[in-house]
Amino acid sequence: MTSFTYSAGPARVVFGSGTLTSLADEVRALDASRVLLIGGGRRAQAVSPLGSLLAAEFAEPVMHTPVEVTEKALAVLRDHDVDCLVAVGGGSAIGLSKALALRTDLPQIAVPTTYAGSEATPVLGQTADGRKTTLRSAAVLPETIVYDVDLTLDLPVEMSVTSGINAMAHAVEALYSPDANPVTDQLALEAIRRLAGGLPKIVADRKDVTARSDVLQAAWLAGTCLGTVRMGLHHKLCHTLGGSFGLPHAETHTVVLPHVMARQAPEVLARIAEALGVGDAPTGVYDLIVELGGPSALRDLGLAESDVDKVDPEAGALLHEAWSGTRPPQRGLPDVRKLTAQVVDSFEGASPR
Ligand code: NAD
Repeated sequence: MTSFTYSAGPARVVFGSGTLTSLADEVRALDASRVLLIGGGRRAQAVSPLGSLLAAEFAEPVMHTPVEVTEKALAVLRDHDVDCLVAVGGGSAIGLSKALALRTDLPQIAVPTTYAGSEATPVLGQTADGRKTTLRSAAVLPETIVYDVDLTLDLPVEMSVTSGINAMAHAVEALYSPDANPVTDQLALEAIRRLAGGLPKIVADRKDVTARSDVLQAAWLAGTCLGTVRMGLHHKLCHTLGGSFGLPHAETHTVVLPHVMARQAPEVLARIAEALGVGDAPTGVYDLIVELGGPSALRDLGLAESDVDKVDPEAGALLHEAWSGTRPPQRGLPDVRKLTAQVVDSFEGASPR
């Protein structure tokens, strides 16, 4: 028998094609009427749907949510008497919205355009004086998520692959989390299925709406796992590789995942393999990444070989494999099972040196 505790974050999710047109109704449903619109290029597509509810825009979200940028956005928000935050973009735009919500308690609508999953988590990473720290608070969880698949059709193939594998990592780690429970198990397995099925179709045709929809749903399911249960060794290593060695977020997740998977318990790997439709999960994920044209070696992401042993001495063999990009060995590696006991509560990933 397995015992568990399960708490779900409250969130309203609107999913579909053209859902951006419902943005004004979603703002009004939050009893708000003066929106600060946050985001990079894709932000512009929300201007017309918001109409007269748009009070101000902030166009420069920065990765890792530097507090100076948050202060600037805070000044804009106050100058315009804003009562609602709408973020359109990837983890960076949504991170800024969360940082503002933390300081103002304003409601948020997140409109994700990547598969990072931040919209579904109560976690925020912020950078001050070159140091990134993460916090977990219900105050930063967006009230509403509007997924509009149309916004993802132009996500470049390379970014779709790495962001998709970033989502797969959330799902994989949920399955062996100490907080694993029947709900997140099913969300995680369904996310893995949809990612494995959808990503090759996106590589073949970037504008395949059905595949984009499958992968965006997977990103939500995986993000929900990320926000609900603690992550493990994979997220810990990626956090260090990003935070201390400046490696890029989604690419690092892509390279490291198969090597961490090779160290997991066979019973978990068997469930993942079944969802992937392969015989062996770690080599199955490695082969999928190679087939999709994704990165497979940390050395190609800029990690110096002399830095490998500084990342995590206990994970030496794993990191050397990931550095050189060799195919992981088949089946679990029992000698490093103790590594799987490591859990982290902060999984933001890359941050500046
Ligand atoms: P990102 O938001 O920085 O986006 C990467 C690039 O892609 C940007 O240049 C962006 O403008 C562009 N882009 C985004 N959507 C696009 C689209 N549809 N078409 C074309 N270009 C598009 O990257 P990300 O991987 O989404 O997010 C990474 C950040 O989010 C990191 O800082 C990470 O730490 C954080 N994160 C936080 C959580 C959390 O729960 N708090 C979870 C995951 C990631």
